Amino acid sequence: MNCPFCLLNSNEHAFASSRNFLAVYDISPMLPGHSLIIPREHIESLHELDQEKLAEFFLFARKVTKGLCEMLDTDAFDWSIQEKEEAGQSVSHLHMHIIPRTKNDLPNPGDWYPLLMKNKKQTMIDSANRPRFTDTEFLAMTQRLRKKFHP
Ligand SMILES: [Zn+2]
Repeated sequence: MNCPFCLLNSNEHAFASSRNFLAVYDISPMLPGHSLIIPREHIESLHELDQEKLAEFFLFARKVTKGLCEMLDTDAFDWSIQEKEEAGQSVSHLHMHIIPRTKNDLPNPGDWYPLLMKNKKQTMIDSANRPRFTDTEFLAMTQRLRKKFHP
């Protein structure tokens, strides 16, 4: 199986984790704080989560969102889950985007969605053409966030 999200692990990539989920900073963040909640196991759909895991998913996502928003001194955020290609899902491993928002971060507050989709297309077509963290930058951000989530 060739799934990039199955390669992520809590030691190397995650800045926070729960029993079944990881919080990972987006390698090519569209705005500061842009992170992903990803199941550790290869789960494709929200429907595969039983009631307990579904609760864990949203509770963990809320906790991570709170921490990211505190760091950026805001209480505004967007959440996005795309399920299936028709809906814009690019990696068929369940993931939720958490995007903290701040005043005037984009010309119009609703611009985040086209930007998210544009980012995805560019990642797949030509990753050299867009701002992407180097390994060092990614590690520095992950370590900074780990301190926030595991003080
Ligand atoms: Zn996977």
